[in-house]
Amino acid sequence: MTRILLLGGTTEANLMAQALAKAGLAGVYSYAGRTDAPMGQPIHMRVGGFGGVEGLRAYLASEGISHVVDATHPFAAQMSSNAVSACTASGIPLIALERAPWVAGEGDRWMHVPDIAAVVTALHRPPLRVFLAIGRQHLDPFAAQSQHHYLLRLVDAPADPLPFPAEVIMARGPFDVAGDTALLQRHGTELVVAKNAGGKGAVAKIAAARALGLPVVMIDRPEIPPRRMARSVAEVMAWLNG
Ligand code: NAP
Repeated sequence: MTRILLLGGTTEANLMAQALAKAGLAGVYSYAGRTDAPMGQPIHMRVGGFGGVEGLRAYLASEGISHVVDATHPFAAQMSSNAVSACTASGIPLIALERAPWVAGEGDRWMHVPDIAAVVTALHRPPLRVFLAIGRQHLDPFAAQSQHHYLLRLVDAPADPLPFPAEVIMARGPFDVAGDTALLQRHGTELVVAKNAGGKGAVAKIAAARALGLPVVMIDRPEIPPRRMARSVAEVMAWLNG
């Protein structure tokens, strides 16, 4: 019997859950539990880590999972690597639904860096007004460059005090170019820091930076072990039905 584990937390995963529900396929949508109020889904949901590769293997067996669809964020490298290891060891087919990365076009002023540590190094310079658009998980290292005036946009209010002074706004995407252009202007932003998430929901800030001629420090995607890939929900459905 087909029973799908959908690793979620993204717009793609939400669309995938809708398609599974519409097709009447049994599935479980898994959230890491990072946000206070995760969106409801039209299929069964679970929240929280599995306990590494071994925990995931045990979950796949106990829940009778036949297929895994990894629709996590392209920067959720630990979860995606664990899924590859657990599925390989358990002989369960896996597909990753992943949006294509953004590619610099005319007018973009990107500086590519491989990871957060490299951003921190790049920020070793006199004070700037920086839109640090990387979520709330990896903020601690920026305490070393607290000379900047940071703007953060977070889904939930931070539970703990921030590791450096910053202006914080609370908002959940998708965002639009007009709104993000106005935000960057209002804040007097001189530099944008972003992860190369790809997709439409978060690209507004990149388009806004282009429109305003602002430089962007672009964090490239982390390496994930090779796995079967799909770029659309339709591709995943075809694979499931194949
Ligand atoms: P990560 O670093 O790859 O994962 C760390 C651990 O969190 C995993 O080992 C796993 O714990 C647990 N985990 C992650 N995703 C999970 C899921 N969908 N279901 C159950 N457990 C999960 O992941 P992350 O970057 O912290 O991302 C966490 C969640 O936020 C993901 O659902 C991702 O799609 C979403 N998200 C991430 C970003 C980003 O920039 N990283 C942006 C938007 C949304 P165990 O080892 O205990 O199983």
